[in-house]
Amino acid sequence: MGNYLALVNSKHKFNVEDVEGFSYIEYEKENAKNEDQFPIYLEEETYKAFMGLKKELTESNINLKVVSGRRTPAQQSDIAKQIYEEKLIQFKNSGIKDSFAEEKAQEYVSSFVNKPNESEHHTGLALDAQPSRIKENFLTKLQNSFINKGDSFSLKVARKIEALDRRVMNRVVHSKLEKYGFILRYKEEDFAKTGVHSEPWHYRFVGRENAKNINRSGLCLEDFILKQIENEQIK
Ligand SMILES: [Zn+2]
Repeated sequence: MGNYLALVNSKHKFNVEDVEGFSYIEYEKENAKNEDQFPIYLEEETYKAFMGLKKELTESNINLKVVSGRRTPAQQSDIAKQIYEEKLIQFKNSGIKDSFAEEKAQEYVSSFVNKPNESEHHTGLALDAQPSRIKENFLTKLQNSFINKGDSFSLKVARKIEALDRRVMNRVVHSKLEKYGFILRYKEEDFAKTGVHSEPWHYRFVGRENAKNINRSGLCLEDFILKQIENEQIK
């Protein structure tokens, strides 16, 4: 059976044995921004847990959508290429020299996109999600009123309000992850251990019991697994 504590990072490459026996379910896409272009699959238990979380969040006026699930190493490399091209254009348009733009785009990709075989998305146990409001609330009303004004200052304010509401929604979502067996995988304070900056959208399914134990330990997955191995050796 597959391993719900599978560790995949730059030092521990993806091991197909970790996913042996896993089944995958296709997630019905919801036309979200930055959604994967290929069909989104999640490991079966991960899928069920996510759907439970999603259902509960509707009570908090939040529609949580999966924008990325399982990615094969080949898809991961396509994503890296695509992001590189996008960033290259963006940096070139900002008026800096072409050679420097290439360097900056490369730098961006290496710090924000996992290399093929180094992403836990390969397991189908990790997903990227995006919360949005089901019904307008005070903040979305305020945001829309600024969007309607249409001038650049109002649009800037509208974007700030949107970011604020996303932080509010993230806090609600994050508080419910453990109950469904997910952990918030990449926190800024763990950067030295994980090599990944804060990703409030990336959830990792480990199962309820593990999620509880990991959160109680205060450790990131890397250190939690290391401690487990140490404990085994002591026994
Ligand atoms: Zn992710």
